[in-house]
Amino acid sequence: MNKRIYLCLAHMGGMEQNYVQEAFDTNWVVPLGPNVNGFEADLETFVGEGKKVVALSAGTAAVHLALLACGVGPGDEVLVQSFTFCASSHPVTYLGATPVFVDSEPDSWNMDPVLLEKAIQDRMAKTGRKPKVIMPVYLYGMPGRIDEIMAVGERYGIPVVEDAAEGFGSRFDGRVCGTFGRYGILSFNGNKMITTSGGGALICPDEAAKQEIMFYATQAREAYPYYQHEKIGYNYRMSNICAGIGRGQMHVLDAHIAHHRHVHALYRELLDGVDGITLLGNPSPRYDSNFWLCTIVLDDALKVKGEDKAYAAVVQGAVGGAAGVTHAVANPHTAHEPNNNVEALRMALDAAGIEARPLWKPMHLQPVYAAAPAYVNGVSEALFRTGLCLPSGPCVSDEDVRYIVAQIKQALA
Ligand SMILES: *Cc1c(COP(=O)(O)O)cnc(C)c1O
Repeated sequence: MNKRIYLCLAHMGGMEQNYVQEAFDTNWVVPLGPNVNGFEADLETFVGEGKKVVALSAGTAAVHLALLACGVGPGDEVLVQSFTFCASSHPVTYLGATPVFVDSEPDSWNMDPVLLEKAIQDRMAKTGRKPKVIMPVYLYGMPGRIDEIMAVGERYGIPVVEDAAEGFGSRFDGRVCGTFGRYGILSFNGNKMITTSGGGALICPDEAAKQEIMFYATQAREAYPYYQHEKIGYNYRMSNICAGIGRGQMHVLDAHIAHHRHVHALYRELLDGVDGITLLGNPSPRYDSNFWLCTIVLDDALKVKGEDKAYAAVVQGAVGGAAGVTHAVANPHTAHEPNNNVEALRMALDAAGIEARPLWKPMHLQPVYAAAPAYVNGVSEALFRTGLCLPSGPCVSDEDVRYIVAQIKQALA
């Protein structure tokens, strides 16, 4: 073993430096400029549907501004998919609102539309008010039942904000994810489908909505010869340097998506016939995942070598603690954790130079959200106990996938 294989690493196509160089040459080293405009135009062309796009400093900023634009404020409730990364729900709290978590359905692992409707009715009965926004997520790139979720939203007059941060380029019924709801979130963090080093974007319904988002993303400045503020704004615009990277990455977007799908197909072929391990695939031809991350679930009964050593010691540098900025912990256990066979397989792969990661821990199980209402059916909790993400990015070769699957087979007891 001479290199480490990561889940999803940034991969440059070659054109990025040209756009960045142009920004230097023309002295556009600010959070606006030709690369920002060009990147937004490229994104608008890609997503289609007549949508407008605003480039922002992060996907998390896009979530925050979408909620703000939907009128979310103190005391409001927002229905958020529980099975997600924290950036879907944290911005709800930035606005003084409360996330209400909705569990997933077992086919796509995304928001269950039936449970969503029950949650809306129960919230209205309990609080006398309608939740302000419905936020489904395309976890690991997999489309969800967005047609049914949109129908629920329309029935109750609640806008839908799609968190497509992991689902850039995925499609449902042939339509790009993130273009169904009023707003759609994209992320260009270093580990996403394409990167701007760090960044995100908000897909907006029209030019007026785009202008309003840009206003709030640029400190909410009124049109006077001096600084005049009548609203609270944010410093969330993307820099022209990052947008240059993004314009370069747009040249390799289709190739990245094709590569992720190819890696998934290879996992499917190689894991076929391995008892006790199930790879998530598109539930039907209506779903067209970008397979940002390929994910497996392990049967409870599957035996993996070294299960007795799972959780024996605290992990040094938390899983997913990219920059090492995590709190050290004293106890290796929490109230909810993946099964011992999952942790044993993660450790075996880690020792073989392969990064694997448990599925995201549902938000309704996170201590920070202990007081938030949740409508659950056990699906996300079971997935968290049994699932792992496997390396899937543009830097993962066929040879890597063969090596990873061979290591998985070798780890089975
Ligand atoms: C990455 C991610 C985000 C946020 O994007 P950043 O650009 O990292 O701020 C939001 N939601 C989900 C589901 C994500 O995976």
